[in-house]
Amino acid sequence: MKKTTDDLDGNKDLADPRAKAVFSQEFIEGRFDRMRILNSGEWIPCMENKPQSYPAYLKSNPNKLFETRKTIYILGLDESISMGFLENCRKYCEAFYFGLPVKILDNIDVKELNVKSRGKSDSIQYSAKQILTKAKRKIPKDAYAMICVLNKDIYSREDWNFVFGYASLRARIGVFSFARYDPSFFNDDHGMTSEEVEDTVQFRGIKVMCHEIGHMFGLKHCTYYRCIMNGSMSSEEALLKPCYLCPICLKKLYFVVQCDILSRYQALNEACEISQLFEETSKWYSEAIDYLQDQYTAEGVETIITPKYPIPRGSKHVSSSKPSAKPSAKATCKKVVKQLR
Ligand SMILES: [Zn+2]
Ligand SMILES: [Zn+2]
Repeated sequence: MKKTTDDLDGNKDLADPRAKAVFSQEFIEGRFDRMRILNSGEWIPCMENKPQSYPAYLKSNPNKLFETRKTIYILGLDESISMGFLENCRKYCEAFYFGLPVKILDNIDVKELNVKSRGKSDSIQYSAKQILTKAKRKIPKDAYAMICVLNKDIYSREDWNFVFGYASLRARIGVFSFARYDPSFFNDDHGMTSEEVEDTVQFRGIKVMCHEIGHMFGLKHCTYYRCIMNGSMSSEEALLKPCYLCPICLKKLYFVVQCDILSRYQALNEACEISQLFEETSKWYSEAIDYLQDQYTAEGVETIITPKYPIPRGSKHVSSSKPSAKPSAKATCKKVVKQLR
């Protein structure tokens, strides 16, 4: 059987001994589930995406991080989104993209962008492509990426029913909708308290946000393992995704964000306190942390190499957009029933 380290192109290119332990076969085996197709309606058989190996990722020349362009921004496009929801998204995201600041911009309403829509009132869907085109001018100068978020359904192609999210691999912008992450969207919230509904929306929303931002780091859909970067054709398939990156996607992220992976796992484990739905994820992180700590102690590896990103030539001053501190109205989850194709 092919070893994961082959898909990773070995780990000889890694300078940091701590990273070498993370991308070792010993760490990977038994910790990550290889992708298995469960039915023909899933993303992989439907979309026939070519796997993006680590060498293919390097060839794609992903956007670089600069000291003056390393902030991730969250822009709410819906006044009904609560500050609490965005703050929890921000918190998990800051641990996920460890070492990069994540800031929330002032909300604007999607209607202000004047984008194409289809359907009426409660079943309205906005064009994700047009949201990217129109919201592009809002990207702050020091942004590595900006993710737009709304509680309305979105679509990317006329012949598609909907998309959960949509992001550009190059243009540093993406959008995601958490409308379909609300169990009441499918009339599936029977017996759930409003807190449980809120918790579910938060948990699923965080997962899709980290996924869409992953695309902005040049990561394509993962076909190797059960991984947060898996594509999904339905809400059921989206639920199969774990909240973490598989070793291949993690190595891609590590190529851009040279952070200490043990410290990243520790920050993520702390961020799991956001919701009890992260319990299983927290257990996974704890086990990974214990293994790496033992490994580092046994090998006497203590040095943490602090990343230094370059400053682009000719850059003088970069103004940062003011993050919002203003809380907006509490999130309301609309009860809309739609058919999934
Ligand atoms: Zn995706
Ligand atoms: Zn992956």
